[in-house]
Amino acid sequence: KLASAFKDVIADDSFDQAIEFIAPYNPRHWREAKFRVLEADQLANHEVVITVQDITDRKQREGELVAQAHVDDMTGLLNRAGFTDKAQRQIAHARDGDLYLVMIDVDRFKLINDNLGHASGDAVLTAIAQQMKSHLRSDDTIGRLGGDEFAIILSHVDKDQAYEACNRLVASVAKTPVALSKDKSVNVNISCGMARWHRGENLEKLKHNADMALYEAKRRGRNTAVSA
Ligand code: GH3
Ligand code: MG
Repeated sequence: KLASAFKDVIADDSFDQAIEFIAPYNPRHWREAKFRVLEADQLANHEVVITVQDITDRKQREGELVAQAHVDDMTGLLNRAGFTDKAQRQIAHARDGDLYLVMIDVDRFKLINDNLGHASGDAVLTAIAQQMKSHLRSDDTIGRLGGDEFAIILSHVDKDQAYEACNRLVASVAKTPVALSKDKSVNVNISCGMARWHRGENLEKLKHNADMALYEAKRRGRNTAVSA
């Protein structure tokens, strides 16, 4: 990398070249090398200044910002961008058939907002997120895509296991009232639509299939899981 940046700056000295690298002798530190041509004479002799700077702190801050941009503040789950990013990477490494996408939507959530207020609605979303985290395996990917819509990637599961995971979640949410204050709680339900990933399908297609199953779960009366 260093050698090619050096070649580039000599080939075109009208602008500087900068590259970021990790030196093998100090793998915990990021460095930036800047190449600038001071002078080039008629015989194509170049005087090049190379400045090397430790940029570990900046790289760390950048990493934290990227991570923050991928998290939903209210629930601590991945947000749409974070979920999409991770789901796409999982799809790239999946084996045909052993990955499921589950789309989840809170039933009649608007009624909760309308009757109990927006803050209560938020408390319900946070409680549902918490239940998802506690019910699923640590390598399952969970996201809040927006509003009352959540999504999960279940990897390394067969159809029965995926169905079982969805049913468990639906049942658990249904039997766990969300506490809103010391003496007030609200019952809430969710619907799930799940779709199996097949080789060659992209996330869009998979999401479409899971959305159709979710739509069917709503049509069948909600508080249930349907497989595409
Ligand atoms: P359905 O069973 O068909 O899903 O009915 P629903 O009432 O849940 O309908 P829908 O999913 O369309 O309603 C979503 C509502 O979520 C509408 C919107 O006002 C509300 N909402 C979106 N984001 C937030 C949020 O961050 N907090 C709260 N409290 N409400 C939100
Ligand atoms: Mg809803």
